[in-house]
Amino acid sequence: MTDEPLVSLENAEVHFEEEQGLLDFSDPDVVRAVDGVSLDIGEKDVVALVGESGCGKTTLGKTTIGLQRPTGGSVKYRGQDIWDAKDGTGDVDIPYEEIRRSLQIIHQDPGSSLNPNRKVLGTLEAPLKKWQPNMSSGDRRREIVRMLEEVGMTPAADYAGRYPHQLSGGEKQRVALIRALLMDPDLILADEAISALDVSLRVDMMDLMLDLQEQFNTSFVFVSHDLSNARYIASHAGGRIGVMYLGELIEVGPPEQIINDPQHPYTKVLRWATPDLRTTGETEAPPVRKIDIPDPKNPPSGCRFHTRCPEAREACTQQSPASYANGASHRVRCFRVDDAHEYWSSPPVSDEPDDQRPTEAHST
Ligand code: SF4
Repeated sequence: MTDEPLVSLENAEVHFEEEQGLLDFSDPDVVRAVDGVSLDIGEKDVVALVGESGCGKTTLGKTTIGLQRPTGGSVKYRGQDIWDAKDGTGDVDIPYEEIRRSLQIIHQDPGSSLNPNRKVLGTLEAPLKKWQPNMSSGDRRREIVRMLEEVGMTPAADYAGRYPHQLSGGEKQRVALIRALLMDPDLILADEAISALDVSLRVDMMDLMLDLQEQFNTSFVFVSHDLSNARYIASHAGGRIGVMYLGELIEVGPPEQIINDPQHPYTKVLRWATPDLRTTGETEAPPVRKIDIPDPKNPPSGCRFHTRCPEAREACTQQSPASYANGASHRVRCFRVDDAHEYWSSPPVSDEPDDQRPTEAHST
């Protein structure tokens, strides 16, 4: 990573107000999809975001590439606030169009992002016409054929003439990947990009992404609910894994640290829940006090994991842990990495019913 991050999130928040019925006059519920996340992404960097469904990882990914406006904090591309550039406010050194081109996305369902009435050639010519208007038609076609061959879609001329419904799921995802790369992006968000593929094709697709990431010097944010896929991508790319829980980034670091020596009790739960990553000697029962995930509209007070955490103490019910540095590229949001914290002299939590404990919305 260079000194200046490619994309930098500082204390980013995305809070959604839930829609209400016409005759509902109460205050709307607020879902804290992303809450207080700070993260730097460098050139040729790879960050794999993991967590349970609804933890905010996709919203965080979209916030990172400027597709989701944060309700608090900031998101910068090469030091330029993305939303200042879009709104034309403040100092704008990098035009929004340039930022939009540089930050691309591949969706979970490639079928829905490809125009069903357009052949592969037309789909792939569009970004080149827009971003390289001086390129001749012959050069455009040569580049598209080269890219189709690069991703293994041969004979390329045959694939260029097909419609999306004439492609398999893996082939559609390859076309979506080429389309993103033809923008010459600095960062691609792969949002559950392999989840819809057959299990046997997932490793091939991850290998292809890794090859292209290397070849095009692109950074990737890879969103997945599967810790072993996150490990595969992050360890082959020399990247990091970031673990999300109820809108917070609770641990981020090198994959071998996260898998072999996780410091946050929730990361241990994720590892336990991934059978091929379980180590010998791990318990049959999940390492949590309670299975149920709290309501994101009404998260627990203090540390959000305290209602499920087997290591929770009274201090955890009242104070929210900061993101502690634990070495050069490892951060953990848990008091247990701070030897001097009053957590260590605080009594263990009693297992009183959740409804008798304060929540963030109701505590002062
Ligand atoms: S701060 Fe407390 S409740 Fe939260 S993860 Fe650490 S030990 Fe568990």
